[in-house]
Amino acid sequence: MYKSKAYSAATAKSPFARTTISRRDPTEHDIQIEILFCGICHSDLHTVRNEWNEIMPTVYPCIPGHEIVGRVTRLGSAVSKFKLGDLAAVGCMVDSDGTCPECRAGLEQFCPNMTLTYNSPDKHLGGVTYGGYSDSIVVDERFVLRVPSNLDLAGAAPLLCAGITTYSPMRRWGVTKDKKVGVVGLGGLGHMAVKIAHALGAHVVVFTTSPHKKDDALRLGADEIIVSRDADEMHKHASSFDFILDAVSAEHDINTYLNLLRRDGNLTLVGLPAKPFAVAAPSLLFGRRSLSGSIIGGIAETQEMLDFCGAHNITSDVEVIPIQKLDEAYERLLKSDVKYRFSIDLASLKSE
Ligand code: NAP
Ligand code: ZN
Repeated sequence: MYKSKAYSAATAKSPFARTTISRRDPTEHDIQIEILFCGICHSDLHTVRNEWNEIMPTVYPCIPGHEIVGRVTRLGSAVSKFKLGDLAAVGCMVDSDGTCPECRAGLEQFCPNMTLTYNSPDKHLGGVTYGGYSDSIVVDERFVLRVPSNLDLAGAAPLLCAGITTYSPMRRWGVTKDKKVGVVGLGGLGHMAVKIAHALGAHVVVFTTSPHKKDDALRLGADEIIVSRDADEMHKHASSFDFILDAVSAEHDINTYLNLLRRDGNLTLVGLPAKPFAVAAPSLLFGRRSLSGSIIGGIAETQEMLDFCGAHNITSDVEVIPIQKLDEAYERLLKSDVKYRFSIDLASLKSE
């Protein structure tokens, strides 16, 4: 074992504090990564504040972070995919059994024995796994991804969650040229969805509660923007969308959006508010519409997404912050005040 610096939350209400944790020395198939940047996902906030208590209670101290980009610093003896000094990335998962039908289908995110990057039982050291708000991490090479060399690293980190979480359902539901695609919520996930849908050739419409985000939405690749609280504007788009991606972190009415789908249109939820939704049956029945969910993506698809972003020069729009500003960043995230992802520069931790 060796020591690693990190920032942790001691309870759901504590501010972040500097700590030292143990990481395992790389075993045969492990890679040790010096973390350079780590994005801040709203899931980090839900977890730190124990908002998902009913489905995934938080074990404290909690060290979040699952949008990790860094450099390889040590290699297990059997590692073949990476060499020392390579750029490397880690997303929301660090292990799975590799043998179940889900793993065999490349859908590790559904493996019953999947290990999340943080707040999952740690098979090696006991306790729970610790994420990327830290200066280093050790991960099985099967869960380490390659970052295209042309991408800015601070902006590439959020691709590891916000990128794959939006790319995967768009591929699954056939978002292609000329499809009319809605994105609900212009936050970290939402702004990646706009960039990716635009790159896939879709006609992209953003729904926001923040009118001041209009110019940004257009710059990011949206063709139209609708302030969702304007009922008349919403009504003009009734029954017209092929696909809508809902990336909202808080409670809201999804029937309004279901009613905007055309026949056989689909609304996929990726946002994970703590409270259940109320779905009115007619919103689905009329038009044979469907409502589904999606969670991150498998490892092969995550690499496909990174390569797609490399080819289209897509990164997240980031506000780079030192790790000492975590509490402030969380408060701003709660107010939908981030353009459009915070990315922690871990150099700020090394110098502490
Ligand atoms: P975020 O950056 O905070 O963005 C959320 C956006 O939702 C806000 O920017 C805001 O957009 C909108 N919003 C916030 N409060 C709202 C309200 N009361 N009513 C309507 N809209 C509201 O969060 P994120 O990191 O993108 O994450 C979004 C959600 O996805 C979170 O619940 C997160 O846990 C979840 N998530 C799921 C997966 C998955 O695999 N399925 C992966 C990552 C994250 P506007 O200002 O434009 O209205
Ligand atoms: Zn995330």
